[in-house]
Amino acid sequence: MAQEERKFVYLDNAATTRMRPEVLEAMLPYFTEHYGNPSSLYEVGRDAKKAVELAREKVARAIGAEPSEIVFTGSGSEADNWAIKGVAQALEKKGRHIVTSAIEHHAVLHSVEALAKRGWEVTYVPVDDQGIVDPADVERAIRPDTVLVTIMMANNEIGTVQPVDEIGRICRAKGVWFHTDAVQAAGALPIDMKMLSVDLCSFSAHKIYGPKGVGALYIRKGVRLPVFIDGGGQERKRRAGTENVPGVVGFGRAFELAASEQPANAARLTEIRDAAIARIMGGIPHVRLNGHPTKRLPGNANFSFQFIEGESLLLLLDMYGFACSSGSACTSGSLDPSHVLLAIGLVHEIAHGSLRVTFGKENGLDDIEPLFEALVKVVDRLREMSPLYDEYLKAEGKK
Ligand SMILES: *Cc1c(COP(=O)(O)O)cnc(C)c1O
Repeated sequence: MAQEERKFVYLDNAATTRMRPEVLEAMLPYFTEHYGNPSSLYEVGRDAKKAVELAREKVARAIGAEPSEIVFTGSGSEADNWAIKGVAQALEKKGRHIVTSAIEHHAVLHSVEALAKRGWEVTYVPVDDQGIVDPADVERAIRPDTVLVTIMMANNEIGTVQPVDEIGRICRAKGVWFHTDAVQAAGALPIDMKMLSVDLCSFSAHKIYGPKGVGALYIRKGVRLPVFIDGGGQERKRRAGTENVPGVVGFGRAFELAASEQPANAARLTEIRDAAIARIMGGIPHVRLNGHPTKRLPGNANFSFQFIEGESLLLLLDMYGFACSSGSACTSGSLDPSHVLLAIGLVHEIAHGSLRVTFGKENGLDDIEPLFEALVKVVDRLREMSPLYDEYLKAEGKK
């Protein structure tokens, strides 16, 4: 091969996104000129306070909420923890039963598991083989002592979009609070809290081209959660700690842009995603698409390559300059297959050979052919070394 410059193509936008320049620009003054503490009464403090409140308005407007319904957190994970553990604590007297799905993010699953260790009961509703929750299963799972249903808006691994409007209506009718993790849905799907029966909703800045280490929890008016961090009076005394002013400002700007660009962004990414799926499924044998063909996030494609081990696939793709993921970034490095892929019914060997490709703002249709070419080479090479593939060829009389 000639000394070509290795192109780097980032295809892991579900793990994190590159911060956009407009966001960095909005943040910079809050590291330098406007360095005040928002709780201070002099001018640099008041500047910072105003910026935090403006960012709160922007986040609220992006999702059709009131600014008073938004609290800033240190991450999407924190928002999930707060919602779940907060409701559990607030409604402890009413009951100790929670309903969730088998394919939630670990910030949700591990929060309910922590409660289960302390005496709460948890019902995990299943998903079908395309990764969709049936609202009727949620309805059946709700009991008189159920205090919370938590089901994500869109899945981070296989991209499936859940019928949260219908699930929300069921919860509302039964008088049960409904939390949804919308970290992946933000900027990808239209979100309007006026239209949804959602009581609590989690967001994260770094998944929408904002900074890492900032999240938000939407808490519908009338829903009261216990204080999450004791200390000063920040976030109306619910989460003490001096605000991450630059981060919050960046989040506000990122969310404002993401909401205004959502329809165009979704249309563009859907086209790229579908072209990539068609190319890969059409050109490589023994591949399956995980998740739903259409009820999926615009930028998400998730494949299982039979006879292949996902980690090797990733490492070789990295050598060709493609950054992808095997399932979810949080579990890479562990040998357990993804709980999401197991929940849609994949056997371990198939789940192990999975690849998540998530497109974002910086990708285009012109990324597909180079990715496809690299995949063909990598898949061929790994299958040549695979004893399972060898057995398969022999069994089929092809060798
Ligand atoms: C990334 C992610 C989170 C966690 O957000 P952080 O800000 O990284 O803590 C939670 N839920 C989903 C669905 C995610 O994709």
